Amino acid sequence: SPYFVGVDIGGTNIKVGIVDDAGNSLAFCKTKTHVDKGVEAGLKNIYQAITDVLSDCQFTMDDIKAIGIATPGTQDIPGGKLVDPPNLPTWKGFPIRQTVSDHYSGKKTIYQNDANAAAYGEYWIGGAREARSLVLWTLGTGVGCGIIIDEMIIEGRHSHGGECGHMIIQMTDGRLCDSGQYGTLEAYSGGKSLVRHCQELLDAGRSSLLRSMIEGGKKLSPLLISQAAEQEDELAMELIMESAMCLGVGTTTLMHTIDPDMILFGGAVTFGGRDSELGQRFMQRIREEARQRAFKVPYENTIIDFAELGSDAGYIGVAGCARLACRKEETND
Ligand code: BGC
Repeated sequence: SPYFVGVDIGGTNIKVGIVDDAGNSLAFCKTKTHVDKGVEAGLKNIYQAITDVLSDCQFTMDDIKAIGIATPGTQDIPGGKLVDPPNLPTWKGFPIRQTVSDHYSGKKTIYQNDANAAAYGEYWIGGAREARSLVLWTLGTGVGCGIIIDEMIIEGRHSHGGECGHMIIQMTDGRLCDSGQYGTLEAYSGGKSLVRHCQELLDAGRSSLLRSMIEGGKKLSPLLISQAAEQEDELAMELIMESAMCLGVGTTTLMHTIDPDMILFGGAVTFGGRDSELGQRFMQRIREEARQRAFKVPYENTIIDFAELGSDAGYIGVAGCARLACRKEETND
């Protein structure tokens, strides 16, 4: 059976795994992006992680049919390059596909948007296995979105199809997003924005358990906000529910645009996800907002739920994209 390497590069972490032809993950490893240290530091970690997962499987690169790499946008998917990604600023313009392929003596390497890749993963072997059309939101440092219709990933003319994290949800006095736009969904529901906004509120004197947690040496992060909310901290809860409300608004627009079978939510900033009470409250708030705002009759049955693969979706999905590219080549499709 052919094997594939999947590499999912995020603003904070890089996930690398080996995936077989059926989508099983045979080895996995997580490393840091160290985005401040520039692209060389990240690349070094990627090559090391690939060495590690290969050795976990007692494989060499010869056992690998193709490599898939995913990064956040902005990017040039057909050209294999990053363009100017707000969440990977030091990787601007970097020709990643060619560089990685050259490093492994010309190994077939494909490139994709991280959220598109994650959507493909959910569609291939995750929560959307039974679906024909899917919208996947990925909640991490930024807000990603992948749209798949009948096995086709919507990439668009400029590789920006499905960049729905940048939809404007606040027309006036919107918060500033790292993309340079005001009022984007990512500026309300992205992990980085959430932390920044939380810090602003703390600086403005809001009382919160988070204050003592930070003074005790903890770093403000979406996880810390989640922990505070679990202890019924008002500020933390308010931020999480606001994020959910904004995602509900974005979801409404996607129901009206795509009318997919399913709208799923994955990524690390899902506040515990399906298995936690807080995660369920978060999801309930998203659904409530979307159901209340959408046309009633056609969308009553649209599934709005957590994705299944969690933060594995990206590397599994991009390995799946590499597999798909090989299959298309073989059938001259
Ligand atoms: C980028 C998307 C990406 C998302 C998640 C956004 O800022 O524009 O391309 O999918 O972050 O990483």
